[in-house]
Amino acid sequence: MTEQEGVIKYQLEFREAEPLLDHNYSDLNHWHRQFKNAGILGQDPKRYNGLGFGNLSQRIDQQSFLISGTQTGGLDELTANDYALVTRTDIPLNRVEAEGWVKPSSESLTHAAVYAFDDQIQYVFHVHSPDIWNARTSLDIPETAAHIAYGTPQMAEEMIRLYQQGVFERGNILAMVGHEDGVIGFGSTADQAGGLIMRMARRISPSL
Ligand SMILES: [Zn+2]
Repeated sequence: MTEQEGVIKYQLEFREAEPLLDHNYSDLNHWHRQFKNAGILGQDPKRYNGLGFGNLSQRIDQQSFLISGTQTGGLDELTANDYALVTRTDIPLNRVEAEGWVKPSSESLTHAAVYAFDDQIQYVFHVHSPDIWNARTSLDIPETAAHIAYGTPQMAEEMIRLYQQGVFERGNILAMVGHEDGVIGFGSTADQAGGLIMRMARRISPSL
């Protein structure tokens, strides 16, 4: 069964605030465009019941990160209005606190888990790549278990468990088997995170 994309499953404490103008979004906007052109972020009536897919985030400090708003995958260009600031997360309690003009992505808790791996991680990108996801075994990409759904504390805990096993020593990328086409790349720079995803996708579809 295909799980509905985009539904927020965590308990959200959201403070509606003016658009977050004080941040530099150029890296996130750049990769939003790249992924959209490659068809691994966006909105398509033929995929996932027509809901937007893919979300990008950037660390601000120890606790907080900027993340694209829920259902912004279909937009060609994101502005400050389209990002939320996640100010605090609690994985065991399944809670997210955020502020901004839009609510944060439904996968915010998953992003928080990746930032918890290591302080050096500055960017987390989530895309929906059938190419990478279907070829994850031949590409030797670590994966989360099939019974674990996106956006849940179980997903966050599973990823932290993978990190502790050292599986990301072979690359900062993973496939979420319980989330169709779901792939996460991360890194200390946006180009590291985005470049790795695109290199993997091109090994399957060289024309991308
Ligand atoms: Zn997703």
